[in-house]
Amino acid sequence: MNKKLPVILLSAVLCLSLLVGAIVALCTAANKDDEKPMTDLPSASLSGEESVLEEQALVSVFYYGDLRLGTAAKGDTVDALKQAVLTLLGGEYEMAEELTLREEQSSAAPLTVDALAKKVAGIVKSDYTLGCGLYINGVLSAIAEDKTVLQKAVKLFTEGQATEEGVHMELRGLEYVEGVLCKTEELMSKTEVCALLSLCTDLRLELPEVNYDEVDRFLEGGDLPDITPVLVQVVSERVDEEIAFATLTKEDSSLYQGQKVLLQKGEAGSRTLTYMVTYEDGVEVSRVLVEQVVNSEAVDEVYAVGTLQKGTATGVMAWPTLEGRISSYYGYRYLFGVTKLHGGLDIAIPTGTKLYAADGGTVICASDKGNGYGIYVIIDHGNGLKTYYAHMSKVSVKEGDKVNKGDYLGLSGATGRVTGPHLHFEVRVDGATVDPLLYLPKER
Ligand SMILES: [Zn+2]
Repeated sequence: MNKKLPVILLSAVLCLSLLVGAIVALCTAANKDDEKPMTDLPSASLSGEESVLEEQALVSVFYYGDLRLGTAAKGDTVDALKQAVLTLLGGEYEMAEELTLREEQSSAAPLTVDALAKKVAGIVKSDYTLGCGLYINGVLSAIAEDKTVLQKAVKLFTEGQATEEGVHMELRGLEYVEGVLCKTEELMSKTEVCALLSLCTDLRLELPEVNYDEVDRFLEGGDLPDITPVLVQVVSERVDEEIAFATLTKEDSSLYQGQKVLLQKGEAGSRTLTYMVTYEDGVEVSRVLVEQVVNSEAVDEVYAVGTLQKGTATGVMAWPTLEGRISSYYGYRYLFGVTKLHGGLDIAIPTGTKLYAADGGTVICASDKGNGYGIYVIIDHGNGLKTYYAHMSKVSVKEGDKVNKGDYLGLSGATGRVTGPHLHFEVRVDGATVDPLLYLPKER
């Protein structure tokens, strides 16, 4: 406040003296035409902050390029102003023009460095804008007004490439980043970005709206990142495939542990699979199953597996041999003047025929006890049931052995009281003989 008062006083004094001077000059001009013209008076076109009527003096004036900023205060330097401007701009902006001081005749009041710096910062910032940056492989390569411009450019470029039917081009390594500060003049149009992509890929896009001459300036900015376009093909593929059959087992208490009988043969089914397969440059990169049609279902393979422990009777007998004919049945007959019970079944087989256990059990005799049976085997099946195999020539089991139904016992022969080689097979219940045909299956 107290600084303004002397200025007003000084102005009043100057006004008076100028007025007097002007009157004198007018009078003089009226007399002498070749004297100084009126235009020599202080110019009215100066900034409003400067007084029209002040007397001119040689002062320092700051310029930004050719733009006059204002009078410098005594001692203010270009460096001081530059520093103040950079502080205000915060490092993201660049001054396009030089700051200079010029000596000029001026009566304008000086401006503070802060005021001048604000002016410059405003001018610098007005040249800038926020755009959307296109980064190619991490390198900022183009900036457009917004993302859609960049995306449209990429679309225009990729769709404009001549590719085979069903093949389209993709550019990889592109990233869009919003809010990238740039100079307004650096913003690129769709066709400019498109041309830039051509330069990055070495693929010319022959579209009338793409002008390659206008993108020459991008080359001056340094190396452009390379883009290797990828040719993508998505095709539907159908594959006929076998459906493997499952193998199931069913426990069977009529079979011994370790025995396995095929109940149902497995049969593979068939199906048709449809995949969407993606190829990149001819190499498969993904395969997605989109449909599955079963043409025929697979048939399970089923096995019966035994659960019977070794030496346990199944309860159902088997023939001890499948060879030979029955030469004598169980029953009473008159022989040598005496009626006598024939306690077993005679099967006529040559000596050396293999004999098998009629059912599981424990061998309780396997030798020649010196009676009419000759060499014979007795198997105890439990529950009072036993089977006898008489007149054998060779025994391959011993007393105490656990045998399963169908196990090999030894060879038939003609030992003991016989008239020829045969097997005498007996079934006893609680020690008494019974007709074996009541226990053996009808079919041999
Ligand atoms: Zn007999």
